[in-house]
Amino acid sequence: MQLKEETLLGKSIEELTNWVELQGQPNYRGKQLHQWLYRKGIRSFTDISVFPKSWRKDLEHYPIGRSVIHDLVVAPDKTRKYLLSLKDGSIIETVGIPTPKRLTVCVSSQVGCPMSCDFCATGKGTFKRNLTCGEIIDQILTVQEDFQRRVSHVVFMGMGEPLLNMEEVIKAIKIINQDIGIGQRSLTVSTVGIPKKILEFANYKLQITFAVSLHASNQILREQLIPTSKSYPLSTLLSDCKKYVEITKRRLTFEYILLEKINDSLEQAVELAKLLKGFQNHVNLIPYNPIEEVKYQRSSSQRIKTFSYQLEKYGIPASIRYSRGLETHAACGQLRASHNT
Ligand code: SAH
Repeated sequence: MQLKEETLLGKSIEELTNWVELQGQPNYRGKQLHQWLYRKGIRSFTDISVFPKSWRKDLEHYPIGRSVIHDLVVAPDKTRKYLLSLKDGSIIETVGIPTPKRLTVCVSSQVGCPMSCDFCATGKGTFKRNLTCGEIIDQILTVQEDFQRRVSHVVFMGMGEPLLNMEEVIKAIKIINQDIGIGQRSLTVSTVGIPKKILEFANYKLQITFAVSLHASNQILREQLIPTSKSYPLSTLLSDCKKYVEITKRRLTFEYILLEKINDSLEQAVELAKLLKGFQNHVNLIPYNPIEEVKYQRSSSQRIKTFSYQLEKYGIPASIRYSRGLETHAACGQLRASHNT
């Protein structure tokens, strides 16, 4: 389910050209509208100064599809975490993460998430609906506007499971790439794994980075952390990952949250290394950001280093990914949960 209302954001250049023609305007206005929507990031039709005044007036209330910043938290490292309010009152989270060379946006793909992963704040809340392509694009434009700087990278690691909203996510990737002008290799889609969906996604043959949230070295433990994995055995998930690599000719990354004394022992590192042997894929180790609802703890830095070292020893390249802006409810869905929305 998603919002049905038509907005300009989310339309391709061809769709915008058809739309301006339907309004009785010459077709070159489609290209202009496209530029002002995606490159200049306008918030209202009246902002398009190259359009005739009377037409701008007629359409001044036409829905562009931009959200409103409901709240903003800024971390000492300048990471900015937004709560965005959508047309239907839904609230989603978006994060802007700056470094001298990059501006990365972490976007949501759904309002809430139906996957219920035990360690995830979004999973503890309620799932409402899929986001439209326009609502995904708006998040990038909002961060760009707020930072007054072009976004260089986009990661689908905010609220929601992107592969459960594949059609809109694929449309958004195309617009991010072709209309906003961010290279596919600078985009990452992260999934916890949905039966059949990884192969469906592979067949789009995108050049993006694909990340799979693994978080456990065996099926029993994975089911404890990710209840939905009961219907998607680890062996099937990994064989789908292999096929993804064959089809797209792109490597994928495994994400592994480190939870103290749950999945971070030496034996589990060895088990994980054996599981991933021959994959030639990278493992991103993510120190867990504690959430209120559950008692898991972040692994100590010593245990994290040892786990990483053990993987490397067994030939699995690993890196530790500290999330930015920890002080400001950095983990997925935490800010929204703290607002009780
Ligand atoms: N549903 C997708 C994308 C959203 S979550 C997925 O599961 O991959 C993006 C990443 O943040 C995932 O790897 C997820 O496991 C991780 N994450 C969720 N809660 C977290 C927490 N409390 N601490 C650290 N990482 C977390």
